[in-house]
Amino acid sequence: MLESSSTYASRIRRFRLPRVCIAVVGSDAATMSERAESLLRDNPFLELRLDYLPQPLAALPKLKHLLEIHPEATFIATCRRAVNGGKFKGSVASELAVLRRAADLGFPLVDLELQSAEELKAEELRDLWDRVGLILSHHNFRSTKKLDEEFAAMSQYRADFYKLVSTATNLYDNVLMMKFLEKTFGTHEMVGVCMEEQGIISRVLGVRAGSVFTFAAATKGEETAPGQVTASELRDVYRIEMVDQATQVYGVAGDPVSHSLSPVMMNAAFRRETVNAVFLALHAKSLKDLLACVQGIPIRGLSITMPYKQEIVAALANSDPLTRLIGACNTVVRAADGKLYGFNTDVAGIVVPLEQRLTLAGARVLILGAGGAARAAAFGLQAKGAEVFITNRTPASGVALARQAKGKYVKRAELAKQQFDVIINATPVGMNGAKQAPLEEKELNTKLVFDLVYNPAETKLVKMARAKSIEVIPGLEMFVQQGARQFEIWTGKPAPIAEMGYVVTKALERKAAEEAEEEEKALAKKGTARKAAVRKAAKKPAKATRKR
Ligand code: NAP
Repeated sequence: MLESSSTYASRIRRFRLPRVCIAVVGSDAATMSERAESLLRDNPFLELRLDYLPQPLAALPKLKHLLEIHPEATFIATCRRAVNGGKFKGSVASELAVLRRAADLGFPLVDLELQSAEELKAEELRDLWDRVGLILSHHNFRSTKKLDEEFAAMSQYRADFYKLVSTATNLYDNVLMMKFLEKTFGTHEMVGVCMEEQGIISRVLGVRAGSVFTFAAATKGEETAPGQVTASELRDVYRIEMVDQATQVYGVAGDPVSHSLSPVMMNAAFRRETVNAVFLALHAKSLKDLLACVQGIPIRGLSITMPYKQEIVAALANSDPLTRLIGACNTVVRAADGKLYGFNTDVAGIVVPLEQRLTLAGARVLILGAGGAARAAAFGLQAKGAEVFITNRTPASGVALARQAKGKYVKRAELAKQQFDVIINATPVGMNGAKQAPLEEKELNTKLVFDLVYNPAETKLVKMARAKSIEVIPGLEMFVQQGARQFEIWTGKPAPIAEMGYVVTKALERKAAEEAEEEEKALAKKGTARKAAVRKAAKKPAKATRKR
């Protein structure tokens, strides 16, 4: 017999749970205990993954001290069996023995997989429930298809929390999970999340839809499920503790999108201006999936990045004249009636930093590239009265753009002989650690270089320009300016530009430091391998000598 939901409520009132639970792993009890200890200062809610220990039952008494000295913290004991996606090789009876022992040692919550519950006798389950708070879990490692059926099987059993974890294979799977959570909100204490990269948004939006809490990794590399993000990212970037049903949802959509710094910048802007909104990264494998997700969540605004800037134009109910002229949209507003309206803020991102430095009317501006960013530059600058020149790897598209934007096409071979006021790099050359520049030194005949590439902050082109004492505008300025316009379109408030620039600069510095550390490690590894090879080679002649 199931208890009524009000009885559940009075029972779980004991658990005043934070939003984020960190899964802690370790190869032995001492390591796990140490790891938990280091996390507890900032994270009072931990799941100890006992199944990662070689002998969980024997190890449990060694974890008791941790519970005793941290009465303020909430611990979940989990001993998931290997057949259910965990590491524990023992039987269901052994899993039950571990969870009972954990309960007796003072763990307030234990996690039991549905498949294990199905194998236990009713009195064994009742006994466990009498001892400890029970989280009944079900993991679907393939899809997000049958949430209602899966939950129907779970709700046969009495539990304090029901944890339903599915696998997202597209963005719309998150919508299915949100709708399910909204439906069960108020009747059951649910924890719902979609795994995998496509499901990352469910880790933030789940709590908005009614999930009591969500799971996070302690650090990158310590994930216990695919798509898990770190607790600090959930708290510091997404402000998960503030997310509620009134929180508006925005996002950057593209493929790929995980490298995007838009979430860091936009969430900081929302925080600074106290806007109850969250900005997510939406990895859209198709525009159709993205549009279905936008309507299903629903999402209030989108920043559109590669490869959908052109494709999305056909899905818009209306757009501003520049978007129509350029044929590319980077900003979408979803109106109350569900219709999508498009804007192009890349133009402002290019024009505003230039206008802060020179008069554009009559200025000779060379644009490298003929893609989306080059189109925004060409039309935006032409509208300001600049003389626009284009050069491109594929001359045909460069010639076409020059014609459309009333500019001139310049052959690469002629660049060294020409003089410009501004050169804009609108190609990806120099991005993400690439050491190339889109031009040679002799072709940099200009007063100002604007490199639209913003990661890394100091590209090869920027360094070359500085070495020739040419003024530089880094791509970061475009990124912040186009984001500032987006913020204003979405919220109607002035954007906190200084804050936005600051957080992106810091994020790029962190990224550069991480990359330098990785490079150092790789070099050290190479060095060790080389030393080993030298040692091996040194042994060979000795062998040969013996032979002779
Ligand atoms: P896109 O539409 O794909 O266009 C890329 C352009 O670069 C094309 O003209 C392409 O020439 C050219 N190109 C690509 N690889 C090249 C190479 N190896 N050598 C020479 N030319 C090459 O991309 P997009 O949206 O315009 O973006 C271009 C770059 O602008 C991005 O990579 C990004 O770094 C930067 N961007 C920055 C911001 C910002 O906020 N700072 C915003 C948007 C874009 P073909 O025609 O021959 O293919």
